[in-house]
Amino acid sequence: MMVVGVTGGIGSGKTTVTDLFATHGIKVIDADVVAREIVLPGQPCLQRLQEAFGDEVLAKDGSLNRAWLRDKIFSDSAAKTQVNEIMHPAIRTELLRQLNAADSPYVILSAPLLVENNLTKLCDRVLVVDVSTQVQRQRTLERDGVSAAQVEAILAAQVSRNERLAAADDVIDNNGPVTALAEQVAQLHQQYLSIATST
Ligand code: ATP
Repeated sequence: MMVVGVTGGIGSGKTTVTDLFATHGIKVIDADVVAREIVLPGQPCLQRLQEAFGDEVLAKDGSLNRAWLRDKIFSDSAAKTQVNEIMHPAIRTELLRQLNAADSPYVILSAPLLVENNLTKLCDRVLVVDVSTQVQRQRTLERDGVSAAQVEAILAAQVSRNERLAAADDVIDNNGPVTALAEQVAQLHQQYLSIATST
């Protein structure tokens, strides 16, 4: 299965772009959704987190206590390593399973941290949704109603625009209006279809 990784910084327009690919009948798998699925009650990953951190890692209803885990990771770097060691292989395995089960000519793996988490290895091509950092800040502030400081903290945890672009095979420019996206997506879709059918 040909896998196209789609990434971009916070507020760059990944969801807007992948929704357009979906209108062409392309299956989209979102790494963040998979990361949540693998820690649902009854999943082995949640059990391993419980073994590692005790019952504190669970909320009253038996689901993952995300707020607790976020604080723990923030204050304890060994715990962060441990969580990553539990989560990352499980995410990768489940992503591979879903990517291979997809029934479209090619499949999209959408991941905000595609480059940061080395998920580019799972991809045949990498498509970056690119915006200037100024547009990125403005759209994120408008959408999320967060503070400028929170946006800066998120930006600091992601690779720089240039590092992300260095990993790109293809780039969508999303500095313009949303209406400028459909044509760029349609063109890439044709290109990906011809690659997928020739390999
Ligand atoms: P995140 O990783 O933060 O979830 P994302 O990369 O998926 O973000 P979107 O949610 O698609 O980004 O877009 C961010 C915000 O910007 C949304 O509110 C979206 O409606 C808006 N937006 C996206 N593209 C454009 C555009 N070309 N012009 C104006 N607004 C846009």
